Amino acid sequence: MRDSRMRDSRKRYGVAMTTEWKLPWNGGCRCDQVRIQITQPPIMTMACHCAGCQRMTASAFSLSIMVPSAGFAVTTGEPVIGGLHGGSKHYHCGHCKSWMFTRPEGLDGFVNIRATMLDDHLWVRPYVEVCRDEAFPWATTGAAHGFPNIPPNGTWGPLMSQFLKDGPRP
Ligand SMILES: [Zn+2]
Ligand SMILES: [Zn+2]
Repeated sequence: MRDSRMRDSRKRYGVAMTTEWKLPWNGGCRCDQVRIQITQPPIMTMACHCAGCQRMTASAFSLSIMVPSAGFAVTTGEPVIGGLHGGSKHYHCGHCKSWMFTRPEGLDGFVNIRATMLDDHLWVRPYVEVCRDEAFPWATTGAAHGFPNIPPNGTWGPLMSQFLKDGPRP
């Protein structure tokens, strides 16, 4: 369902959308041995306050940019699986161990890229924050929408439409 929504929006916006987003975006891990490229607009930017993200980022929350898998490529190096080695696959640089992106279980059409991997990442602002129940009491992100845990499936469609209209841009 999300796949077809994305195809529709690309058809509607086409090249204009690519220009608007200043694509492609390039990025890399801490040591730069693994390089990535994004060639399609994101459908969401997020902060996750869950304890798992706190541990993997060694910080208060993770920042991610969700993009269609077809618009994402590893251009240099070969990332390795890290994190929980479970259904959702967390990809890391084998040398510096940076957590670079996640292929979420059950969402084959999308990749969650860690926003801080982008060469130009300071424009990224979380549009949605999740797992607020696990957040540090002082950790605020300014996200437009917040949820105590992972919001139910029906929530995402409207949020993605709003994100297309007034989400952050590079
Ligand atoms: Zn590295
Ligand atoms: Zn998390």
